[in-house]
Amino acid sequence: MSTNHVHISFHNSKLGAGIPSVNLPVGCTCRPDAPCFKKCYARRGRFSFARNRVLLENNLDIWRNDPERYENDILHTAYFHNFFRWHASGDIPDMDYLKMMVRVAQRLPKVHFLAFTKKYDLVNDYISLKGSFPENLTVVFSAWGNFLPENPFNLPVAYIHFKRESAPIPSNARSCPSYCGDCVSSGMSCWDLKPGECVAFNEH
Ligand code: SF4
Repeated sequence: MSTNHVHISFHNSKLGAGIPSVNLPVGCTCRPDAPCFKKCYARRGRFSFARNRVLLENNLDIWRNDPERYENDILHTAYFHNFFRWHASGDIPDMDYLKMMVRVAQRLPKVHFLAFTKKYDLVNDYISLKGSFPENLTVVFSAWGNFLPENPFNLPVAYIHFKRESAPIPSNARSCPSYCGDCVSSGMSCWDLKPGECVAFNEH
């Protein structure tokens, strides 16, 4: 059993100080064919600093070796907030983790959780087996250009406006205003995305 704790970030300038996030390493938690790996913002900037890489690896280590502690640490932090973001860096590692995300949302019905993921199959398998997610857990499929999700349950989708290439983006996609700290109170944030809705981000 580990004696240290999950690192939960309050210093993501896009999210703002009021929205905690838990983060995991990119690569090993992402789908192996993730098309965004080379351009991934989480491999640059502050997530790439040595100290931060250690924190992300440590989070994954706690999940793998002491999942109860991982879950409890997130519960204890999320409890005090209205919004929580899963994985500004990294992705859902496995099915047990996704089940844990659902348990956390069920235990904290007043907190709204958000996760973007390219683990389309994992999420679709979960919904096929267990049914839809709790209302306070918004799971958004991340598309990347022509890399589009199989989306039989009509989950919300996030698209990217690339700087140089064109990419298919539905005309009803909301444009991301960039700062979640303000956006969350607009009623039009990613936490509010419903089935069939979508958002478009500018490429970093
Ligand atoms: S649309 Fe709003 S909530 Fe979603 S990422 Fe952009 S600023 Fe954040």
